[in-house]
Amino acid sequence: MTDCIKLLPDHVANQIAAGEVVQRPSSVVKELLENAIDAKSTMIQLIVKDSGKTLIQLIDNGSGMSATDARLSFERHATSKIAAADDLFNLQTKGFRGEALASIAAVAQVELKTKRPSDEVGCLIKIEGSKVIDQGVTTCSTGTSIAVKNLFFNIPARRNFLKSAGVEFRHIIDEFHRVALAHEEIKFILTHNNTELFHLLEGNLKQRIVGIFGHKINDKLVPINEDTDLVGVSGFVGKPAHAKRSKIEQFLFVNHRFVKNSYLNHAIENAFSGLLQPQFRPSYFLFLEVDPSTIDINIHPTKTEIKFEDDHSIYAILRAAVKHGLGQYQIAPVLDFEGNVDLGPSYGEMKQMAAAPEVSVDQHFNPFDAPDKSMQLKSKQDASAQWESLYVGLQSSDNDQLEIEENGAQRQISAFDETLSIQGKCFQLHRKYIVKPLNKGLLLVHQNRAHQRVLYERILHKLSDSKGNSQQLLFPLDLDMNAQEINLMKSLRESLEHIGFQFDDSDNFKLLGIPTLVPESEVGNVLDQLISAARDETPNQHFSQSDLLATSMSKALAIPSGKVLTEEEQIGLLDQLFACQAPNISPDQKSTFSTWSLEDIDRSF
Ligand code: ADP
Ligand code: MG
Repeated sequence: MTDCIKLLPDHVANQIAAGEVVQRPSSVVKELLENAIDAKSTMIQLIVKDSGKTLIQLIDNGSGMSATDARLSFERHATSKIAAADDLFNLQTKGFRGEALASIAAVAQVELKTKRPSDEVGCLIKIEGSKVIDQGVTTCSTGTSIAVKNLFFNIPARRNFLKSAGVEFRHIIDEFHRVALAHEEIKFILTHNNTELFHLLEGNLKQRIVGIFGHKINDKLVPINEDTDLVGVSGFVGKPAHAKRSKIEQFLFVNHRFVKNSYLNHAIENAFSGLLQPQFRPSYFLFLEVDPSTIDINIHPTKTEIKFEDDHSIYAILRAAVKHGLGQYQIAPVLDFEGNVDLGPSYGEMKQMAAAPEVSVDQHFNPFDAPDKSMQLKSKQDASAQWESLYVGLQSSDNDQLEIEENGAQRQISAFDETLSIQGKCFQLHRKYIVKPLNKGLLLVHQNRAHQRVLYERILHKLSDSKGNSQQLLFPLDLDMNAQEINLMKSLRESLEHIGFQFDDSDNFKLLGIPTLVPESEVGNVLDQLISAARDETPNQHFSQSDLLATSMSKALAIPSGKVLTEEEQIGLLDQLFACQAPNISPDQKSTFSTWSLEDIDRSF
């Protein structure tokens, strides 16, 4: 028999390697941005078309390459950044594997123009699917321009596998944010489909954060600065009131490289414990400086994961640094959470308090209530009026409410079998569940999810039915959103308008009117929830835009866990829940209630 092992031809090996390095357009963006930074550029321009599917071009003013280096840069394992394996333990650059350009050129049509400051003319290389198709001299300015066209043009299966334009573009923006945040000393411009989305001038970190996330973040940042022998921690965390419902604003960098590390994320979130409702995530932009020889960043091909020699100590230092920062700015856990946070204890007092077993945080805390401290003190009568408003919009039209209830009455029977029919009083458990004895058992309802379901059906009904009523705002509301948020809002505009939002036609999207079913005080929260849901959306997660809108609005408006409800309110919620079409699940498919029969209970004794 003849021998059968063959060495793979280079272009095949490159294509296989490309599978690891180039997963989607954003992977190309990341690699090109990193190369430009390693080349010591001070200006980086990224031009993207069709979410990177037709063009990703990066122009920098960095070191440029000689003609020989330019040609070599497309070879696998061609790198100027490390020469020996030992160098891996003292990395100062972003790249080092020497795989990126070879991989990109294996799966796209690439045009490179580059010139060193000392050279008169630049060099041009065109390469497609690893084959050089043109090579020569060209006139160009100092630095490098790489245009990556028609990604995966030669692998239709990969190209078809790409997600929607919106999803792919969000990945690109994520990479852009990560790199731009870590390099405030570099000017960055991002253009998508001929629209300039970011124009970030060189400046300090705070200016960079504001440049990316908009002006409203400016006074929400708390500086963090702590230097120890093991690690330096610097950057900003967002004040608790600025916390989001998603991890959209969580950035951790180690030696100016963006990393994901759930252990360290936990350290930061832990420093906020007692300050945030469970569903809220703190914003942070934190930079760790460590000795490069004490970390291993090479455990993942896309290089966002990292191993530390001494991660326990780093955890402790990071947590303490954030607590300290929050304490200094008097945003530390305070005993009375309804109080003005700015009048909380000083850091010194905090330290003394640390001896106490647990700082108890008022479970009534609800960020929506903050401006209205008197709410807790209102009479019972008022409380029920307040309850009415919790059923936002439910009372607006008697007719359709009646209709739902009629149907609900029939459904109620199917929700419980006869022996479990509702009976007697109910009470609240841990301000989270409503407990109600049944004829032959027990009903336990999750108040937050139950109310989400109620609101969800109501909003969906509005969306599919008539155009929602709108209330005109006295003063137009400046939403002060960043470019990405504006883009998302634009894509949802039609549905938003249908439900009663009104926008002006300026670029920064002023709000002129809001749906009657959304109280003005909740608008920010509703839009916040909506943007983060739209941003994190993966295809098929929601049936439609209406579903997305109804889900996120109901989440934003539902009674939170931790809210005390009067018995009247509890009964009201149960009635509304069992009048729903699908009372047993929340809009994001979690159980809203469970029942225990007497037999179940007997069995446990
Ligand atoms: P790595 O970055 O891991 O070294 P790449 O494939 O990304 O590998 O790049 C290969 C080499 O090409 C780099 O080591 C660098 O010398 C050169 N290079 C790539 N991009 C640029 C650029 N924008 N400016 C100057 N040199 C570059
Ligand atoms: Mg590289």
